[in-house]
Amino acid sequence: MVDRVYLDWNATAPPSPEAVEAVARAMREEWGNASSLHEEGRRASAAAEGARQILADWTRSRAIEWILTSGGTESIHAAVLGCARARGGRRRLVISAGEHSCTLGVARILEEEGWEVVRVGLRADGTWDPDEVLEACDPSTTALASLIWANNETGAVSDAPAVATELRRRRVPLHLDAVQCFGRIPVDLSSLPAAMVSLSAHKFGAPKGIGALFVRQGTPWTRWMQGGNQERSRRGGTVNGPGAAGMAIAATLASRWDWTEALQARDELERLILASIPRARIVAADAARLPNTSCVVVPGADSATLLDRLDARGFAVASGSACTTGIAEPSHVLVAMGIPDHEAHATLRISMGPTTRREDLRRFLPVLVQETSLVRSRSTNSFPPQ
Ligand code: PLP
Repeated sequence: MVDRVYLDWNATAPPSPEAVEAVARAMREEWGNASSLHEEGRRASAAAEGARQILADWTRSRAIEWILTSGGTESIHAAVLGCARARGGRRRLVISAGEHSCTLGVARILEEEGWEVVRVGLRADGTWDPDEVLEACDPSTTALASLIWANNETGAVSDAPAVATELRRRRVPLHLDAVQCFGRIPVDLSSLPAAMVSLSAHKFGAPKGIGALFVRQGTPWTRWMQGGNQERSRRGGTVNGPGAAGMAIAATLASRWDWTEALQARDELERLILASIPRARIVAADAARLPNTSCVVVPGADSATLLDRLDARGFAVASGSACTTGIAEPSHVLVAMGIPDHEAHATLRISMGPTTRREDLRRFLPVLVQETSLVRSRSTNSFPPQ
């Protein structure tokens, strides 16, 4: 493949050679079933326990509070359904309009069962308002709140600590979808009093199909998935030992990621985009943001066409969330922020990694400028130049 530049880290991070080797080694040497009571089983179980301890050390929590899962989607289902099932009597779930589609989906499951789901809106900067969340979380009726901490599409980071502290005081369990946070911003569960936190390891360099859910001791929670008694009877399903081995090394490496240079490179890219592409705008520019994400509106340029053309020239970017790409609906996150449909259809997400080089972005810029102008000139609904 000729010198491609990968700028879609929020969809998935490229695996590090160390993670690839750890998975291969686990498949060669620790391939047993972690539940088996023999040497092969013990070796697989040790790999899983090692990964659990690394997550605990990284987040200043306890290993026993981490349940290994198949990734973000499962962790979020386990958090929401597991807590909902344990909260007899209260039948309100509070979420935001900016949740990942898997949270919106699990909320619909509860709604179909007669639950009340309150969807707190997004502000123009892409964050949810802590006061609005707290207003919706009446402790006599609310079973739990499930909120996205850092948005995968815009990078906007909402004020999770503010709601976590108050909801703990009210004894309303809070689940945070922190899938985009690990490796990008600090997640310290000794000072952040969230009841549950979801993690997906392919977002920081492990293979797909492994993740984890943190459930703080004392949280009302029951298993939602039946089957075997893996994960101390909190989950059914054979533990993904090789995935856990990959997650362990990927987490170790991601805990040391330094964003200083990548952040400077991203800020330079944004300045140059604004200076070189007429009417371009950075989404969530006024919010606290992940260091790696630029969500750019280029009015008049259809982002699906632009994405294809950039891809053909060696640059991988996204338009909206990877999970919804392919559906010609405007992103629900952008719409919730008040961005009109035609602009939402002209939005690119550029997401970088700690190894993204300034030269990569400097090569990307002129191609983006050229292709935007070409797509705009061919677009039937292109805006007149201003
Ligand atoms: N939550 C957020 C914020 C995400 O970005 C994603 C993945 O795109 C998920 C949840 C789902 O994670 P997974 O792909 O591991 O199921």
